[in-house]
Amino acid sequence: MNVHIMHTGKVQIDRALALKEKGWHPAPYTGWLRSSKKIWVPVSTYLIEHQKGLLLLDTGWHEAIRTNQRKHLGTLAHSMFKGVLPEGESIRELLQTRGYRAEDLDYVLLSHLDADHVSGLGHVQDASSILVSTEEWTVANRGMRYNKTMWKGASLITFDFEESGLGPVGRSYDLFGDGSVTLIHTPGHSRGMFSVLLKTSRASMLLVNDTGYCPQSWEELIVPGITVDDLQAKQSLRWVQQQASEVDYVFANHDTTIKPMTITL
Ligand SMILES: [Zn+2]
Repeated sequence: MNVHIMHTGKVQIDRALALKEKGWHPAPYTGWLRSSKKIWVPVSTYLIEHQKGLLLLDTGWHEAIRTNQRKHLGTLAHSMFKGVLPEGESIRELLQTRGYRAEDLDYVLLSHLDADHVSGLGHVQDASSILVSTEEWTVANRGMRYNKTMWKGASLITFDFEESGLGPVGRSYDLFGDGSVTLIHTPGHSRGMFSVLLKTSRASMLLVNDTGYCPQSWEELIVPGITVDDLQAKQSLRWVQQQASEVDYVFANHDTTIKPMTITL
């Protein structure tokens, strides 16, 4: 199994969006009135060449942010974070560089529906199956957090976690039924967020997406700035902390120390 860690540009966020802060500010993660706290972090996507299919985990930024970011993200989101997508780094371009087209993808896995994970969906909507958890989908079209235009025209398929006993809440979904690709429910940052555990006879890798933003998140149990449930978010991080001592690799989506690379498991 080959895992290509790719960056579809970067996102500028408030530091408190990555690592929750407590203080006078009611919502520090918005970055409002806190201009000196901004940091740039990568927006990762993962292309997984598996013998049973070609998988993409999350889609990164859409090329539309190069021309009209405010329109693509919406005014509220745009006031909280900014994206940058250099030439050659959209998911369409990254697939092309590797000789693939969107229709070659067997699965697009959406860890959750925040903009920086689903923005590029328009580039890969010709994939055979686009999966999102039922928990995530039930809240997707409600409230202000998610931008519904990002999945307009795409056919998303929902899947149900099984009571497997795996993961922080004992729920997971075994994609191929052989334990090689397991989507593990790691709620807290969002309702239906999952991490992906990849296993071969030689090695294992955990992709935690936004369950934690960097190793400091699970080493010190610091939840992300945005959570739907702080206790669950911490429970998920505790599980990641324990996994980190068992698997060969752990990667967070927005870790500034991770460079694009390919790892063969
Ligand atoms: Zn994210």
